[in-house]
Amino acid sequence: MCGHFNRYLHVDLSTKSWSTFSLSDDVLEKYIGGKGVGAYLLAQHQDPKAEPFDAPNPLLFVVGPLTGTKAPSMRSLVVFQSPVTRLLTDSHFGGHFGQQVKSAGYDGLLITGSATSPSLLEIDDDHIAIKDAGHLWGMNTYESYDQLRPDYPEKEWRIACIGPAGENRVNFAVIDCDPHRQAGRGGGGAVMGAKNLKAIVVRGTKKVEIADPDLFRKYLKGTLADMKDNDYIVGFRVGGTAASIPWADEEGLLPTRNFQRGSFEHAAELGDAAQREKYWDKDVACATCPIACTKLGSLKEGRFAGMAGDSLEYESAAMLGANLEIGKTDEAICLGLTCDLLGLDTISAGAVLSFACEAVEKGLLEADLCFGDLDSLAAMLGDISTRQGVGDLLADGVRAAAAKIGAGSDSFAIHVKGLELPAWGPRGVPGMALAYMTADRGGCHQRAFPILYEAGGETWKGQSYERLSLDGKAQLLVEIQNRLAGLDTFVTCDFARYGITDEAYLDLLAAGAGRRIDLDELYQVGERIWNLTRLFNLKAGMTKEHEDLPRRFKDEPLPDGPAAGHRFSESDLQRLLADYYVARGWDENGVPTQERLKVLEVDYPAQ
Ligand code: SF4
Repeated sequence: MCGHFNRYLHVDLSTKSWSTFSLSDDVLEKYIGGKGVGAYLLAQHQDPKAEPFDAPNPLLFVVGPLTGTKAPSMRSLVVFQSPVTRLLTDSHFGGHFGQQVKSAGYDGLLITGSATSPSLLEIDDDHIAIKDAGHLWGMNTYESYDQLRPDYPEKEWRIACIGPAGENRVNFAVIDCDPHRQAGRGGGGAVMGAKNLKAIVVRGTKKVEIADPDLFRKYLKGTLADMKDNDYIVGFRVGGTAASIPWADEEGLLPTRNFQRGSFEHAAELGDAAQREKYWDKDVACATCPIACTKLGSLKEGRFAGMAGDSLEYESAAMLGANLEIGKTDEAICLGLTCDLLGLDTISAGAVLSFACEAVEKGLLEADLCFGDLDSLAAMLGDISTRQGVGDLLADGVRAAAAKIGAGSDSFAIHVKGLELPAWGPRGVPGMALAYMTADRGGCHQRAFPILYEAGGETWKGQSYERLSLDGKAQLLVEIQNRLAGLDTFVTCDFARYGITDEAYLDLLAAGAGRRIDLDELYQVGERIWNLTRLFNLKAGMTKEHEDLPRRFKDEPLPDGPAAGHRFSESDLQRLLADYYVARGWDENGVPTQERLKVLEVDYPAQ
């Protein structure tokens, strides 16, 4: 098969050794690449019951069959068992790292073991070296890039690194890339830190073989033409994802004050227009992306004049702005840049800080911290990243912090299965609530985003969905989850998918990799991945009881927006979950049946 090298690099940091391996045609046919191959390899190499930071645990970087070609908007993927949820977690990131991994001749990196001292992994085509990184330990991400760039210039080399949060095993530490791109969710940075691995640098010279170059060019031209005038794509190009702030605010979906409310009086200060005026300097694209939704800039005036870096995309603006009642553009940007420097996930950081602010207000936690106060919030991010004082408690995430604080604080700890929720309040959108409850990696909006059909006026297969109704939401969700898991085998960008049809991806796969599959096969690959991941998560201890919403969304009616007054009853949630298990062909406890596994040809890989 073209597209793939079918060559994976295994580096064992404990023994300082490396080797390459291949996968069988059967595995590649069943899992394609990206999320599929990553889930397969993790299931093969990870004991789901192991402690999160045990040295043998793998950290995987995986790409797709079109990575390294000119197919649009290909990104990168890291797969690991999350230290915060214990679930199989795939975390996607932009930039150019995956392209260089492919150029070096690999479809993935399997990193196991733990170095005895801070180390750097250098991959230069077939030349592998594990080098001392003691001089980088303790540096923030930007300082690390500055130190590395003289030896690894950007023109040839791509870098992924961790900040102090990863070094100190903060459960929501990111892996930063390039810079300005992060594998944000689930604590991949902490896994990397536990391996004493400060950075990976990679470059390569190999070319991906295209099965039918003329046909590939033809399909590529058509795909780019379709993207050009697509309204969603134009929206992402012009305003980035922060352009969604006003809409989320109007719809009562914008988390405000630790998800107590769904709209924020200063929302406009967090949106794309305000950021463009006060911060943005230029658009930046990931590899092969014609959209360039990333905006870099610097603050032009005021207390933080000169602070520079990535802008706030929607999730960061909402979680570090509205959810913390930070209503000034420069202050929200300051918090975002602080997270980037320290190597913290902005979503979880916003959720953890808002939880702590509420705990302080309720007299359950002693800390110098309150909603809307930039200085105390920024200082706490620093304490979290180095695990100082209360920061140590918060560094494990809201679920663990609430368990330690007790006194009913779990009622406002906003997470599902341990992963803090992203910036879309679920009250008033039952399909989204079910998406959070059932997402493979915990509270996540990227495994399915039914809000589009519940509140966004979009139709799914020609069908509309009544916003507050439970009817049909489980079946809708299963179809979306299977579709997106299938597309995640390509490691494509979520945003680009708004302007690229699934058929176009399959045409590019056929011409690029020489493998023609149809839509049903793609979605069945997605379902196969979903079931394999489910088996891993069940072995890791996940049960039906974990598929629940935070109590806030059951006890407290939403105070604002078109769905004001809505909250979930236990029977609503049980009905949604029961419908979902039926739609998935699982038993009443959410366990895949042998019949379904047989149809899907899912065999748990031997370890
Ligand atoms: S749309 Fe944005 S995040 Fe996606 S690939 Fe393009 S630049 Fe990267």
